[in-house]
Amino acid sequence: MITVYVPMTWKRERLYILSVILGELLGLDYQVVESAKGTDESAWVIELQGQDGQFVLPDVFFAIAKEQWLGAASLPVQPLKQWHVLDDLPEANVLAPTIPIIYGHESERAGFFQCKQGDIHLKLDIFGSAFFMVSRYEEAVLPDRDSYDRFPATASIAYKAGFLDRPIIDEYVEILWAAMKRVWPGLKRKTLQFEQKVSCDVDNPSRYALNGFSNMVKNVTIDVVKRGELRCGVIGPRAWLAGGTSLDPSDPYNTFEWIMDVYDKNRIQGAFYFIAGWTDSTKVQHYDIGMPAIRQLLRRIHDRGHEIGLHPSHSTYKVPNLLEAEAARLRGVCAEEGICQDNWGGRMHWLRWETPTTLYGWEQAGMAYDSTLGYADMAGFRCGTCHEYPAFDPVKRQRLKLRIRPLIAMESSVIVGQYMGLGVNNNSYEYFCKLKNACRLVNGKYTLLWHNSKLRTKAEKSMFQAVLEA
Ligand SMILES: [Zn+2]
Repeated sequence: MITVYVPMTWKRERLYILSVILGELLGLDYQVVESAKGTDESAWVIELQGQDGQFVLPDVFFAIAKEQWLGAASLPVQPLKQWHVLDDLPEANVLAPTIPIIYGHESERAGFFQCKQGDIHLKLDIFGSAFFMVSRYEEAVLPDRDSYDRFPATASIAYKAGFLDRPIIDEYVEILWAAMKRVWPGLKRKTLQFEQKVSCDVDNPSRYALNGFSNMVKNVTIDVVKRGELRCGVIGPRAWLAGGTSLDPSDPYNTFEWIMDVYDKNRIQGAFYFIAGWTDSTKVQHYDIGMPAIRQLLRRIHDRGHEIGLHPSHSTYKVPNLLEAEAARLRGVCAEEGICQDNWGGRMHWLRWETPTTLYGWEQAGMAYDSTLGYADMAGFRCGTCHEYPAFDPVKRQRLKLRIRPLIAMESSVIVGQYMGLGVNNNSYEYFCKLKNACRLVNGKYTLLWHNSKLRTKAEKSMFQAVLEA
């Protein structure tokens, strides 16, 4: 049994982050004792029952935040210091020899790592930094928003300090583990498995059928005249005539069967998240969840063993009651179609999110997980981790039942011009793979969003397949 001695402040936050890191990620048996222990500074001290040696980490984030909770002065001081971690801990499972320090105290003489008489002193505040990243604390502090009212990657410490492409908290956990093994070589941790979590936000299930005659004419004209796809002149009207009863197999957005074939081939249980309401009348409603064609699609996905989830509409991110109502509608339609699932989850439309408001929509709706937390403008590790974890509200200072499944990459973030703009080519393939390999290194989850409407061309399809197979 491990004992962690912690300072007597921020008890809920400390218990929470210890449960995530020591409990969920490392799977250690531990107890927490509130008291200062054997050190002249505020510190987290870890001991192992019946064994010599101590492991000591500084308490930096919670000490700073004491006077300045959610104040700008509690944010990390930039530029962040860098630690050549592999000089001190060559066995640590990290992505690069050097790692940025979000919160820590560098000792002038000994750097970030000291080994004294069998004790290890690390000058990196792993628990405080982890709390800061996974609770999305900075989003509750900083006012920056893009034109869709989203906290942008460019405002984040991860982007500013150049570590958005690293699961930095997972790397910190690997450092913690390597250092603890130095003190107690016999210690065992839980084995985690790398996994791909691939999902599709169903924004627009049909290019021609479900959204009115004029929309069909407009899209047929674009496809025939601008794209030179003459066959769309036949497919469009045919799909529209079938109306809401079924999706035309040749509709360019009806790629669902193909996607499920790819999921099956890669042994992935994929997820499809559906919009079940319309909360902004200025935006086009592409379908209604109750249409026969959508019901048929829901049944088909369920019959093929894939997951159905919720894609809460435009304005729900700020209004928990609206999100709850849409979840009820989705569950209702699924129940009418004989679709039962043990767990329900999903992702916000347009990745719209407000910390902590949006958490409560999911929580109120009794959903098991949310998978929104990646940035639209840049793929990477918004939460600093690729593992799932329980949500925590840094404003009301409470833990929730909801679990966060961080989104690592949305196809558009990497490909389209308004975001990273790498295009459909080898550069974007390499970036998807770079993120995937980072998840693989820490045995995490590579959570990828790829829309059904972004698999029209051979090049898009090949890239999606290649990324899953990489
Ligand atoms: Zn969407």
